[in-house]
Amino acid sequence: MTAPNALIAMKDIAKVFYTDEVETHALSGVHMDIKKGEYVSISGPSGCGKSTLLSILGLLDTPTGGSYRINDVPVEDISAAERARIRNKEIGFVFQAFNLIGDLSVFENVELPLTYRDGLTKAERRDRVQSALERVGMAHRLKHYPAQLSGGQQQRVAVARALVGSPSILLADEPTGNLDSKNGEAVMALLDELHQAGSTICMVTHDPRYADFAQRKIFMFDGRVVDEETLQRLRQEEDQRLDAQIARARD
Ligand code: ADP
Ligand code: MG
Repeated sequence: MTAPNALIAMKDIAKVFYTDEVETHALSGVHMDIKKGEYVSISGPSGCGKSTLLSILGLLDTPTGGSYRINDVPVEDISAAERARIRNKEIGFVFQAFNLIGDLSVFENVELPLTYRDGLTKAERRDRVQSALERVGMAHRLKHYPAQLSGGQQQRVAVARALVGSPSILLADEPTGNLDSKNGEAVMALLDELHQAGSTICMVTHDPRYADFAQRKIFMFDGRVVDEETLQRLRQEEDQRLDAQIARARD
């Protein structure tokens, strides 16, 4: 059942990649709702489909099966132009590798998503960039370039860029993956603050400590959403299978 106030509603989502005649079932039968104001984490072993799911959530990729509604708009039925508009307006994306543009200053990086918006004056853009950078504690680095910042600072700027257009949801794919634990914790504290202030967040992480920051935890294994006990059991079974394989290879 889809919750009536679901911001995101996915039903039976599948994703199959075809490469060199090999089929990879990256996602199968994924049901997921995210309500407005929720902070959800997605975790599970490497290769289980977390990034694929987040890319579909963020309209960076399309599923090969199932249905997906964002703000009650069925995204499979709409034009590419409309998808691009929703992606730009409703979704803020934060990546593991920050993905800032090296030739642009902090200010210009954060301003970038706004340049695709109609009807904003230069002064309005400047105010929005300024306030997004204030929210992440980086307003004192407007003129710096990404290479002049620490990893933790770059990720803060990337969060500001994701927030500047006031999206409905912030999606973060392993946002702490390239950071040491001090900077990782600082980025987690920042996401927590944004959630307290009303942002809807969906974060992928393989680190259980960071998953605990979320209000609700979703677990995945082999392309499916599973509960925590099932994940533990499947992991143990896989470990045993691998152990047996290694033992056979030794004989
Ligand atoms: P995770 O983020 O959980 O580590 P991914 O979503 O990146 O996992 O990948 C899930 C599965 O889909 C993996 O088996 C991966 O190799 C495969 N996969 C991901 N992207 C592609 C692609 N563009 N083409 C082919 N296979 C892919
Ligand atoms: Mg991934």
